[in-house]
Amino acid sequence: MEKEKVILTGDRPTGKLHIGHYVGSLRRRVELQNSGLYKKIFVFEADAQALTDNIDNPEKVRQNVIEVALDYLAAGLDPQKSTIFIQSQIPELCELSFYYMDLVTVSRLQRNPTVKTEIQLRNFETSIPVGFFTYPISQAADITAFKATTVPVGEDQEPMLEQAREIVRRFNYIYGETLVEPEILLPDNAACLRLPGTDGKAKMSKSLGNCIYLSDSADEVEKKVRSMFTDPTHLRVSDPGKLEGNCVFTYLDAFCKEEHFGRYWTDYANLDELKAHYTRGGLGDMKVKKFLAAILQEELTPIRERRKEFEKDIPAVYEMLKKGCEAARETAAQTLDEVRRAMKINYFDDEALIAEQAKRFSN
Ligand code: ATP
Ligand code: MG
Repeated sequence: MEKEKVILTGDRPTGKLHIGHYVGSLRRRVELQNSGLYKKIFVFEADAQALTDNIDNPEKVRQNVIEVALDYLAAGLDPQKSTIFIQSQIPELCELSFYYMDLVTVSRLQRNPTVKTEIQLRNFETSIPVGFFTYPISQAADITAFKATTVPVGEDQEPMLEQAREIVRRFNYIYGETLVEPEILLPDNAACLRLPGTDGKAKMSKSLGNCIYLSDSADEVEKKVRSMFTDPTHLRVSDPGKLEGNCVFTYLDAFCKEEHFGRYWTDYANLDELKAHYTRGGLGDMKVKKFLAAILQEELTPIRERRKEFEKDIPAVYEMLKKGCEAARETAAQTLDEVRRAMKINYFDDEALIAEQAKRFSN
């Protein structure tokens, strides 16, 4: 059977990638890539989108393009299997966004809950850059340019996918069946939908500085886990502890497998037993943190080591990105051709049109 499904997903190069990205999207991408079930996989760095709220700090974006590329390779994305590219190098995406803007109303954009939260977070209030405000449209262009069927992302991206689907439906209704409606692929583990920060804040985010990075050293990981937010009412070891809002347990939900108990903590058979003891009282935070740190080190050490290898040949990483951009551009240009034809703005490759006009004026 011919493979039909196409994956597209990406990250903003506004910082190194953290374990929230990893459990929310990156880990899944690598699994999907290696499953062999997909016709094509596109992974990109949304540098143009990153500039919409960093317009006065282009150096930040420039520096992080290579960091994110290294994180991708370290996590197991393989340029032989996935096309890795940079958004700004595909001008077709701007053109698509420009046409899509006519299919979306201002009030529809204003209702996007993720954009609303992000505007508050950045204190934009009334001085929102138009580019930032319209980034859900540009995201629809990113997705549809590659005819993506499947977009593996974290929960915060749900409104973006809905917006993209609406644009596709409206476009196809007006101009005829051209674009492909994408589906979101959310993590199946609830803790991974939106991993909280080490400070207990709702989302681990580059912009909030509450992250454990994929590239953190073993020492840094250890230190960050030790100072993680737990249950502020759990003062003495004998006190009963709460799991809700306790990010040590959320991280365990995201990373812990039964086999980890055999390796690092034989007092319990599984996470349920550990949770039961913690809520009953008599189990201190430090012990749980030590266990979490061991699990994180097991997952992060190979990533850290692979990163070190790729860091040895930075020009090769840029070359890989350049090749990815070229391949991605070919696909996007093909879609754009179809879009132009559907929208009737292909004047020069339509011989029938020219003949018809010639006839009209010859009378
Ligand atoms: P920024 O603060 O610059 O927006 P970010 O940390 O939110 O950065 P993005 O590049 O916007 O990261 O997100 C990239 C991908 O990672 C998206 O699919 C997003 O859903 C996912 N993601 C980001 N943070 C988390 C998180 N804490 N938990 C789960 N998924 C996440
Ligand atoms: Mg974000």
